[in-house]
Amino acid sequence: MAIEQKILDREGLQEALLGLDTPPFDLEGTLDVMEEIHALKREKRAIILGHWYMRDGVKLVADYLGDSLDLSRIARATDADIILFAGVHFMAETAKILNPGKKVLLPTLEAGCSLAESIVPADVRRLRGMYPQAAIATYINTSAAVKAETDVCVTSANARQVISKLPQHQVVFIPDQYMGANLKKELPEKEIITYDGACILHEQFTGLQIPALRARNPGLRVLSHYECDPSIIAQSDMHGGTNDMINYILRERAAAQREGKAVTFLLATECGLSSTLTSQFQQKGMPIDIVGPCHLCPYMKKVDIYNVRDALRDERLEITVVEGIRIRAYQSLQRMFELMS
Ligand code: SF4
Repeated sequence: MAIEQKILDREGLQEALLGLDTPPFDLEGTLDVMEEIHALKREKRAIILGHWYMRDGVKLVADYLGDSLDLSRIARATDADIILFAGVHFMAETAKILNPGKKVLLPTLEAGCSLAESIVPADVRRLRGMYPQAAIATYINTSAAVKAETDVCVTSANARQVISKLPQHQVVFIPDQYMGANLKKELPEKEIITYDGACILHEQFTGLQIPALRARNPGLRVLSHYECDPSIIAQSDMHGGTNDMINYILRERAAAQREGKAVTFLLATECGLSSTLTSQFQQKGMPIDIVGPCHLCPYMKKVDIYNVRDALRDERLEITVVEGIRIRAYQSLQRMFELMS
């Protein structure tokens, strides 16, 4: 896939920054750093892959925005020389696993993930010993070393499809207990064994008073991420991965417009997605109403335009994966791509 860089000039960047809910305090300084990042991308044939949960400024310098699945596909196919992952550590590792010839950079090692940190390879080997007949499926939010111990990887966008196609009846799903519980309900034909990891962000939606919010907002549509507690999923109008949510909003908004009805959305996921959708729809002259609490992932918010600039300029914090681990982790990811088709 030929390198494609999204480069805005200073005027375009300024317009985008001033259109944000909270424009930067130091507008000129922010523009200087963003221009520096664009120049470094050109000079080094680098691309920036940005997750939806990134800060607004980082999303403005990213060449691609997406969820884990989108970004891993781009990482696998790109012919850029450098991939800077504006996301968390396991995402940068996944890019390296899929495209080992590239230099993969992460802006800060503080960008971890509570799910990825909840499990180590010895835990997977223990589970393998306990359930020798089972397939072990890992959510993509794990380290390369954990992926290497598993049979197949999944993302929130394809977990149901991929697990349903596994030949084994018994499946150990790691590490997210909530997503595991949701899959258990949706795939009664499988015996799904879950682990006890959790996303510290999506866990915060447990206890959300959805009936009260519906009463206050007629026409409310509740969208929840797969990592939310099953009690929240049960009260939602839809659930799934980030892209499923975006597609749902597009469909529902268009339908409401055709019927001349008002529609409001509550997104039980990271606030970064709500802010991006609000500004993108606003720019297209199609404002949308999003209500509900704003929860932020503390790991994703460790990435900012300053450490993105520093990482690109100095080519530092390069992510590497030991080849023996990479090959086995690659097989787990490759199985996912095969079962998706
Ligand atoms: S939102 Fe949750 S799953 Fe995603 S990086 Fe943050 S802690 Fe991990």
